[in-house]
Amino acid sequence: MSSIFSKIIAGEIPSYKIYEDDKVLAFLDINPEVKGHTLVVPKVEVDKIYDLSEEDWVALWAAVKKISAHMEEITGRRTLYKVIGTDVPHAHVHLMPYDETWEHGKTLSLTEDEFNAIREKLAM
Ligand code: AMP
Repeated sequence: MSSIFSKIIAGEIPSYKIYEDDKVLAFLDINPEVKGHTLVVPKVEVDKIYDLSEEDWVALWAAVKKISAHMEEITGRRTLYKVIGTDVPHAHVHLMPYDETWEHGKTLSLTEDEFNAIREKLAM
């Protein structure tokens, strides 16, 4: 069975897309810990990030670098990275424009309009 992220990558379920290339898709986390909380996901479905092939690992972190620089330009904030993978068994990196209200696992409730406005600001 495909992971929820593979279904997003296949366009079977919607997401607030920020970035896409041949090997990577990035979209807003639906349970954001800060505004702009983004997931960067390799298109190949591998559970643990350290089990990615060298090529997919490099492509993932190259995308993380690009998106982080862009996010910092837009938000003026440093980017916090988090890698856990306890909920979705499809490798991904959480990127968050850091602010002092951030707390691991504490989420914000945003409206669809708010998600769309953030997506529009951060989309590359
Ligand atoms: P973890 O596997 O612990 O790194 O967490 C998985 C993350 O994926 C959580 O922060 C969820 O809020 C997020 N998530 C799960 N389903 C979706 C979805 N359909 N769209 C966006 N984010 C999601």
